[in-house]
Amino acid sequence: MDPLRRPLIAGNWKMHAGGADSCDLALAVAEATRSCGATDVLVAPPFTALAAVSHRLSEAGAALMVGAQNLHPEPKGAFTGEVAAGMLREAGADWVIVGHSERRQLFGETDELVARKTKAVLAAGLRPIVCVGETLAQREAGETLSVVERQLGAVLPILAERPGVGAIAYEPVWAIGTGRVAKPEDAQHVHGAIRGMLAEKSRELAQSTRVLYGGSVKPDNAEGLLRQPDIDGALVGGASLDAAGFAAIAQAAEKLASAGKPG
Ligand code: PEP
Repeated sequence: MDPLRRPLIAGNWKMHAGGADSCDLALAVAEATRSCGATDVLVAPPFTALAAVSHRLSEAGAALMVGAQNLHPEPKGAFTGEVAAGMLREAGADWVIVGHSERRQLFGETDELVARKTKAVLAAGLRPIVCVGETLAQREAGETLSVVERQLGAVLPILAERPGVGAIAYEPVWAIGTGRVAKPEDAQHVHGAIRGMLAEKSRELAQSTRVLYGGSVKPDNAEGLLRQPDIDGALVGGASLDAAGFAAIAQAAEKLASAGKPG
């Protein structure tokens, strides 16, 4: 595995945990992943919990990183209810998830908006995890790679300016929250294609960009996915709400990294 592509295991807590629950969960994850020295572990609580979680983790001396789930692309302005990248950084975020399929599907986010958000994340000194992935109908129509290529096409010129700073999450929409996980070889097929799309921009971008898989990752299927050469980590929804289960996924990544997984 390229040393630039340390495994990254990220938990997206969506709208599931408030401030107190998020702090307890973050501290439990930090404790349970303490031995994962070769793996980056990240949790993304809701906006209202970000500052408290970051504060509690730094008080505890934890290596856990913190991310946000969304942002507004403008740095400031009259956008009632929205949050800018600089505010996320001030609250202690290191990463921001951009273009999650729930944002694309439920909130109408377009490729163009996802690109603006990615740019804003980088401009604020934060790191984007840009989500891409096809719906079930698109998969059944044989459109997986063309959809992913279109979604990535909007952000690749931006990610190429700072190789290795951002990450991509391939999340087939039909696998998110459904318990229906992609077969490791099917996921690898798409990840390999994504690596090829990155390589068309630059070799450095392809070698240094972590491409995560997301969609019903659980402790019992994580190792098979993470073993694939182009799967550099996981974006985990449901299973990230249980500290022991999430830590088991991080430990699967750690085991492979320590064994010198090729990639
Ligand atoms: C997600 O929402 O990004 C996700 C992958 O969810 P789950 O793990 O629950 O499928």
